[in-house]
Amino acid sequence: MSTSFTDDYARARERFTRAAHAAGARVEPIIHPSLRAPGGGELAIDMAWRGPSDAARVLLVTSGMHGFEGPAGSAVQSTWLENKKENLPPGTAVLMMHALNPWGFAWVSRLTENNVDLNRNFIDWRALPPANPLYARVRDLIRVPDMSLETLARLLGAQQRLTAELGPAAMHVAVDFGQYEDAEGISFGGAAPEFGHRVMRDHAVPLLSHARHVGLIDWHTGVGAYGEVAVLPIDGPGSTNAKRLAAWWGEVLVERWKRSPLEEAIAQDPKLSAMPLLKTGQMLQALVRWLPHAEMTGAVVEFGTEREGALPDLVYVTLYERWLRFVDRTDRMAQVHDNFRATARKCFVPEDEPWRAHVVRKGPKLIDQALAGLAK
Ligand SMILES: [Zn+2]
Repeated sequence: MSTSFTDDYARARERFTRAAHAAGARVEPIIHPSLRAPGGGELAIDMAWRGPSDAARVLLVTSGMHGFEGPAGSAVQSTWLENKKENLPPGTAVLMMHALNPWGFAWVSRLTENNVDLNRNFIDWRALPPANPLYARVRDLIRVPDMSLETLARLLGAQQRLTAELGPAAMHVAVDFGQYEDAEGISFGGAAPEFGHRVMRDHAVPLLSHARHVGLIDWHTGVGAYGEVAVLPIDGPGSTNAKRLAAWWGEVLVERWKRSPLEEAIAQDPKLSAMPLLKTGQMLQALVRWLPHAEMTGAVVEFGTEREGALPDLVYVTLYERWLRFVDRTDRMAQVHDNFRATARKCFVPEDEPWRAHVVRKGPKLIDQALAGLAK
């Protein structure tokens, strides 16, 4: 069994497509209408359906929602396809979608080509976007003129003061829960449905519309203690969805996962009870709207990479991304930005063989357990 990741988008795509064909899946690439990969190759979301097309129970497995996290989810998908020789449980099918944000995967960005966090983009666009009043507290703070160490140190100081004032939970809502007012800001949910949103709505949902039970595993990296798996149910712990997830994967993993220092600080914040607990515009929320006749069970599943003292790196990556797009505006793959891309990878897909081996060992197991749970 291969334990290595395929960090390069084009090669990851090739591996996924080859594995899907070999597994007997029906493969359909949805090509990005206008943009290309760094080498000039195609950008696409590749869909692979395995199992009967009229299956009543379908597990949807997605990767690369946050582009640069893609190599982890991609490795899990490909490894599962490469090793899954036996038949699926009767009446079940799997729909894999590779690289929901192919631009971000290929160009090493969390965000889409439009500075959009794709997992804040799945709001109902017929209504007014939700407001995040706390975002106003960071809006000016993040507008740095350069990426010097002095600027970064000043910003970290300001962030610490603001966290002390608001509490860690409110700070987390401010910077991470999504906002729809500042197109050049952070955690921007967009101004219209992004490519990944449209492909899910127009290509995946029709395939799922007959299903009675739909499961979702949306692979991510970052949240959670280093080397731990963090299951983030759509409607929070204690919900009926979380209970069904616990039946798939066990109580310990779903309700009592080991938090990172940051998650721990947020959980201990007395102001938490006054906070909205849901990030806005997450894909699972849209799937529940789009598939009203299906029972949805699903979660964002994270492979944790957080370590004590890593916050400055995360702040650097977030700010550099913004600065590169709106201030510097040079070629993001240029050598002068090597440190940015290396730090992003270090934070989200570390080149640490035990960590990576854990991902490709654990991920396919969770897929099999989800399938077995769905089949019951
Ligand atoms: Zn993510």
